[in-house]
Amino acid sequence: MSAQRPAELSDAIDAKHDSSNALLDGLGRPLRDLRLSVTDRCNLRCTYCMPRASFDENHAFLPRAELLSFEEIERLARLFIRLGVRKVRLTGGEPLLRRGIEHLVEKLARLHTTEGQPLEIALTTNGTLLARKAKALKDAGLKRVTVSLDGLSDATLRRMSDSDLAVATVLEGIEVAQAAGLDPIKVNMVVKRGVNEHEIVPMAEHFRGTGIVLRFIEFMDVGCTNGWRMDDVVPARAILDRVAERFPIEQIGQAYNGEVAERWRYAAGGGEVGVIASVTQAFCHECSRARLSTDGKLYNCLFANDGVDLRGVLRGGEDDSVLTSLIADAWGRRTDRYSQLRQAGAGTPVHFTRKVEMSYIGG
Ligand code: SAM
Repeated sequence: MSAQRPAELSDAIDAKHDSSNALLDGLGRPLRDLRLSVTDRCNLRCTYCMPRASFDENHAFLPRAELLSFEEIERLARLFIRLGVRKVRLTGGEPLLRRGIEHLVEKLARLHTTEGQPLEIALTTNGTLLARKAKALKDAGLKRVTVSLDGLSDATLRRMSDSDLAVATVLEGIEVAQAAGLDPIKVNMVVKRGVNEHEIVPMAEHFRGTGIVLRFIEFMDVGCTNGWRMDDVVPARAILDRVAERFPIEQIGQAYNGEVAERWRYAAGGGEVGVIASVTQAFCHECSRARLSTDGKLYNCLFANDGVDLRGVLRGGEDDSVLTSLIADAWGRRTDRYSQLRQAGAGTPVHFTRKVEMSYIGG
């Protein structure tokens, strides 16, 4: 089926599209993915994401009325899909803390891309509530899930998450998700030098042969509160070297254009492992992700400092064509490539006025 271009766009802006009619940004990158932060709250205080010093008991989370409702999210998702989006990832904060999240999944699971394919829905979670929620999510139409887990010992996990979290709780969540039929299941491990790098090989040993894809993420300078230093980053090459010392691995190609992880497979069998090297091998040139914050602002980059307020326009009673033009205009002007600029500066963070925190726009 050929993709339909929304009629209002030809009048509203001078939008550029690729051959499948996905909207192109200022650097020719198509709009394909939408990250949706459904809550800015989290029950962990990972030092690299929501450090307790900044997100303590006095931190003001968004009041409920400021959050996009499920109906508002669905309406905006439909518009993003018309502009080329094929995949939506629910994230946060911790998305499973959003009450009734399965009802949102159910609404999104009914949507189709402009090519007539079902919208792909993914979710990233810290796993603490997954055992309780996995079946309802699967029944609602979720197919796949990504679980964050930064080590296999409680001591490491406590250090990374600054919370009283037991590894067994997350592993149980993964087990229940597998039993519920969520597939694929991926595990994300952020690696911080001197804190959890000793867990690289045990994590590979644990997940090899389980059908679960483990992905190591370089510690990034998202937001302004995590005290990022290049010295704390373990480069993806060094991570892969450690895995390869234990299990020979060989590189395999991307599953799709714009995939963030570099994929490797265990040479002797046992599945695959990946690295997300956004610090040492920036992949901005293929970034097709727009981000919608918990309160309905559109961000063009994980490292952006400002977004376009879609909620205000939506609640102001404007119709879909106005919202569509607003999204298309923001994407059409997009030239963000923060990680490439940081890499060009040999790891020096690029100073914007104030980068938005990750819990607010979603990882
Ligand atoms: N609460 C959910 C979770 O823990 O997966 C979803 C939100 S979290 C912000 C999404 C992903 O971003 C997680 O895998 C997390 O480890 C990753 N992340 C957060 N801060 C990061 C940072 N500074 N560097 C690299 N990855 C980070």
